[in-house]
Amino acid sequence: MTPARAKAVVVKCKTCGLPFTARVADRKRGWARFCSKSCKAIKQTQRTGYAGPRDDCSSYSPREDWARYAATIHPFSPEAFEP
Ligand SMILES: [Zn+2]
Repeated sequence: MTPARAKAVVVKCKTCGLPFTARVADRKRGWARFCSKSCKAIKQTQRTGYAGPRDDCSSYSPREDWARYAATIHPFSPEAFEP
């Protein structure tokens, strides 16, 4: 049974492998690859390979900053995939 207003497809999350429902239109644009914002943030962090500076500046946490930033944008939005 497919909703009439939006074609949907079940896809597997690229991070955790869990199936989730995504819109076909989003998939065609290369979006909707992750089940949640946190999974998208994890994958993008892995892809960039940026683990943060290993110096003594312990008060600054780029990982937390990135997670906070990722939480503010929709996982399927074009903005989420801008460099
Ligand atoms: Zn996931």
